Amino acid sequence: MSIWVLCEARAGGYRPATLELLSQARRLAAAAGGPVVAVAVGDDAGAAQALEGAAHRVVTVQGGHLSPYAADPWVGALGDVLAAEAPRLVLFGEGTRSRELLPRLAARLGAAAFTNALGLEWDGGFLLTRPVYGGKAYQTIRCGEGTCLAAFRPNSFDGGAAPVPETAFGEVQAAAVPNRVEVLEQLPRESRRVPLTEASQVVTGGRGLRAPENLALLEDLADALGGAVGVSRAVVDAGWADHAIQVGKSGKTVSPALYVVAGVSGAVHHTMGMDTAKVVVAINTDPKAPIFAYADYGVVGDALQVLPALTAAVRKTAG
Ligand code: FAD
Repeated sequence: MSIWVLCEARAGGYRPATLELLSQARRLAAAAGGPVVAVAVGDDAGAAQALEGAAHRVVTVQGGHLSPYAADPWVGALGDVLAAEAPRLVLFGEGTRSRELLPRLAARLGAAAFTNALGLEWDGGFLLTRPVYGGKAYQTIRCGEGTCLAAFRPNSFDGGAAPVPETAFGEVQAAAVPNRVEVLEQLPRESRRVPLTEASQVVTGGRGLRAPENLALLEDLADALGGAVGVSRAVVDAGWADHAIQVGKSGKTVSPALYVVAGVSGAVHHTMGMDTAKVVVAINTDPKAPIFAYADYGVVGDALQVLPALTAAVRKTAG
């Protein structure tokens, strides 16, 4: 019962979501009686030595056509490797790549595929948990025969697992696959912040902040917390912020340890993107705002006053 994890590189190492999935795979591997296999493709294989102790086997998939990332060649290469090895479970960190790769690989392999998963257990078979109906209910899925592909929200799991005693490294040369798209140039987004979906602290603002210049209050608190900034769709629609930092149904899904949300009403389209945050602090002038139903701590007040006070308090405590 092998568990494979697609490893995505970041800044000379691997995405926190990748490391989180590898430790969950190790936690279950002993019970499931199979190895954990880390697979890294193209440029992502460059830091493969960093995966020592994280998996029983590290498979790097190489070929000039695999760098930079493009969905077609990756699906061809990964599809060949997965078809040959037929793992029971392949884990992906939820993100733009998983959204491109999962459905294509599922079609190619005839595999089951699930997105937005939050929990993984073993009771003689693999059990996945994921939210349904906009987070109003949770569904537990038993992976049946064949390969199951699953993308997990970052920050879904607590704790880690012991490293494996020995890691074997192997390389697969992938056959070239016709590519329908040529990547001419990639411009990485410059940001001094942790990516929104992987941040442990997220500070989000909505239309209640009243003017684009007040988004600086979110930046200040995020700086003090060492976290990321999010916004509601109303803020994006008003042209105050980029869609890349929108939280919700048509934006990003976040699962931070702390979610501070100011001037956001709490419409279901927003809460679908944050309802698995561990601790929610809501600030709103309206005591009846729906966001308070999701809040562990609520402040009824003007965000323009509460946010700076909170930032000052965090800085004082940190100092
Ligand atoms: P509002 O609804 O205008 O709420 C502003 C809040 O700020 C109010 O509760 C008000 O009491 C409070 N307030 C006002 N002044 C202050 C102050 N000074 N201090 C503190 N509080 C104050 N929305 C998303 O956010 N993300 C999505 O991904 C998303 N996807 C969508 C997809 C679809 C298909 C649809 C139809 C809608 C989607 N929406 C999404 C929109 C969503 O339904 C809401 O319209 C949106 O979330 C409202 O944004 P808001 O809470 O910032 O603004």
